[in-house]
Amino acid sequence: MARYIFITGGVVSSLGKGLASAALGALLQARGFSVRLRKLDPYLNVDPGTMSPFEHGEVFVTDDGAETDLDLGHYERFTGVSARKTDSVSSGRIYSTVLEKERRGDYLGKTIQVIPHVTNEIKDFLAVGEDEVDFMLCEIGGTVGDIEGLPFFEAIRQFSHDKPRGQCIFMHLTLLPYLAASGELKTKPTQHSVKELQSIGIAPDILVCRSEHPIPEKEREKIALFCNVRKESVVAAYDLKSIYEAPLAYHAQGLDQAVLDAFDISPAPRPDLSVWHDVYDRIHNPEGEVKVAIVGKYTQLEDAYKSIAEALTHGGMANRVRVKIEWVDAEVFDTSDDVASHLAGFHAILVPGGFGERGTEGKIKAAQYAREHKVPYLGICLGMQMAVIEAARNVAGLSTAGSEEFDHESKGKKRFEPVVYHLKEWVQGNHKVERKVGDDKGGTMRLGAYDATLKDGSKVAEVYGTTKIDERHRHRYEVDIAYREQLEKVGMTFSGMSPDGKLPEIVEWSDHPWFIGVQFHPELKSKPFQPHPLFKGFVKAAKDMSRLV
Ligand code: GLN
Repeated sequence: MARYIFITGGVVSSLGKGLASAALGALLQARGFSVRLRKLDPYLNVDPGTMSPFEHGEVFVTDDGAETDLDLGHYERFTGVSARKTDSVSSGRIYSTVLEKERRGDYLGKTIQVIPHVTNEIKDFLAVGEDEVDFMLCEIGGTVGDIEGLPFFEAIRQFSHDKPRGQCIFMHLTLLPYLAASGELKTKPTQHSVKELQSIGIAPDILVCRSEHPIPEKEREKIALFCNVRKESVVAAYDLKSIYEAPLAYHAQGLDQAVLDAFDISPAPRPDLSVWHDVYDRIHNPEGEVKVAIVGKYTQLEDAYKSIAEALTHGGMANRVRVKIEWVDAEVFDTSDDVASHLAGFHAILVPGGFGERGTEGKIKAAQYAREHKVPYLGICLGMQMAVIEAARNVAGLSTAGSEEFDHESKGKKRFEPVVYHLKEWVQGNHKVERKVGDDKGGTMRLGAYDATLKDGSKVAEVYGTTKIDERHRHRYEVDIAYREQLEKVGMTFSGMSPDGKLPEIVEWSDHPWFIGVQFHPELKSKPFQPHPLFKGFVKAAKDMSRLV
């Protein structure tokens, strides 16, 4: 049965609980243990699928098609363990399940209450797959004291009591603010936050204290004394240059040892951190730099493209270059034709996924610029669709080419050519999936892992080193195969297709050094220790370009 580590936060939000959880997962793996990480989010949305990327950052999609919090991306990038639907839950999901059960009469007429019905549902979620791994790390979103979070805190308290002694521990992240005037780190907010936890029956075993300054021994002792935690279990978390230093940094501060001590695991297996030393070396000793433009819509909030930024970093690590990302707002050239002044000087251009019309004309111009100037281009999902529209309009002579997502006859575009259309049914494995008119906004997309077959001898087959792949999807619209012939005639190859040959998965320009559009999200599967082939290839192409210019 798994040992459980519950990770909570206090004092302020955004302390890096997700990163600490992911790094701890990696450290436990380095000591030979198997792990799974889970996220419990107190908000009332049923899942983050319908939340704006401006507000909540990117939606991370799992192989089994769940739309989850971006922290699951961190978990995967650090542990390599593919997250599942059952690794992410929100208050909204819990309540909707409880209410569904109530309507079905499952509770046999009982009065439905937060305790025990909601808390039981949370405990059931925690227990899924508990026999599969050595450690289950469960992060509670938000900070202790948040109203929405209370049922989760109550559930983990109960859960730890239901289990045998020593099966669950609590790790709490806090902040030690620094008062410049007196030159001191203040421990009071941490003390208050621990009191708050204790008032709901949870005594933390480990405190991870974020601090911009070294924590003096005497402050550590004070925290230990006032918060009822062993001194060795007060772990410092300092700011890092790169998130990928986190496993080594937490190890140096004794986090994994403190966890094993808290579980009484002795002797502790020695860690093999060679992977993380290699990652560290690649990040800190690049041999050059490439400049990549990301032409997108949500450029004010970098978290909206979190996995893409990380995957580019991984591609850089594979090629021993630093990837300097510049965010270019696609809307700036919706209205201006001066694309060159925004895109000249970049060694590669990436157009990421997105929804809605805003910025799409700009993305089409970016694809055109990359094609015409032979700049490496990676189009992801919407970025592929825009590259196809660009090819149709400017090369194949279909001047009214567009997408059903934003071009409608009602908008006066009478004769428009829907090269990207709204897919109504498709095949997943052996099943047919249908999308009906009036379906909810949530969950109506082609979501999760789908296979694709790559064309022998294509660029993309060379990049992957294979012709059979599976990648994660999240979209409603597809490139219409009906236009394949016209587009291939002018040089745009459909080099990846769904196994039934109906859905274009990848397009590429055959006479371009590196121009690839993919209908899926390769960034979701990239890891620092296993950079995704497309990002490795894309950054390599950027590196070659940087030598040319
Ligand atoms: N909006 C497009 C679609 O739904 C692309 C989605 C995406 O880029 N993830 O097909």
